[in-house]
Amino acid sequence: MSRRRNIVAGNWKMNKDYEEGRSLARDIVAKLQPSDTLVILGAPYIHLKGVSHIISDINNLHLSAQNCHQEEGGAYTGEITAEMLSSVGCEYVILGHSERREYFGEDDTLIAAKIKRAQAAGLTPIFCCGEKLPSREAGEQEAVVGQQVKEALFGFSAEEVSKMVIAYEPVWAIGTGVTASPAQAQEMHAYIRGLLREQFGEEVADGMSILYGGSVKPANAEELFSQADVDGGLVGGASLKAEDFLAIIASM
Ligand code: PEP
Repeated sequence: MSRRRNIVAGNWKMNKDYEEGRSLARDIVAKLQPSDTLVILGAPYIHLKGVSHIISDINNLHLSAQNCHQEEGGAYTGEITAEMLSSVGCEYVILGHSERREYFGEDDTLIAAKIKRAQAAGLTPIFCCGEKLPSREAGEQEAVVGQQVKEALFGFSAEEVSKMVIAYEPVWAIGTGVTASPAQAQEMHAYIRGLLREQFGEEVADGMSILYGGSVKPANAEELFSQADVDGGLVGGASLKAEDFLAIIASM
């Protein structure tokens, strides 16, 4: 079973060319303070190998992809397998991000298949879930997130789930500058952990890292991360500037 860790993961999305990505990784390496916080860089596919060379000597710094295909290989033009990611030093993969759900039609059945493939390739999935604004306004956020968690994760064993990371990312807070309040984040994280406890038991639930994502910034990170069930953050926009990302890590 995995031990609950504090994690700050950056999601660069479709930003930065190769040299800009390497330069960002170098800046982070140069100023990252040693700590127990696990730091993950979610780079575009094409940057992964180059970034892995830059971060390979740093203990708590790891590499993530932002997606992978659910099959082991074959005639899927333009796609990338989980095994390919492992082969370039990638250890994590973000799966089920709301942008994948929204723009690429990914649902929880597909996401579960991707998680399975990722684990088979030795990757740690970072499973993303979160409700859209109308659901929040209707007070249905727990029903929506609960369904995502159940559909994507409840087909796995306790052992398999214990080797995942979960990111709660309310869609209304992603890239909008609007952040969930610490109380809203805590409430949902506690709800997710409660679901995990019911299905997989106390040990798994207590050992899982549940990250908050959605306009995390240096100014709000500390208060969010200080919540009992918030074990860190998945950071989009603010992960593109070394200074901001490092400040967020430091507030862990
Ligand atoms: C994200 O894309 O996972 C994210 C949380 O983005 P941002 O921090 O920019 O809201």
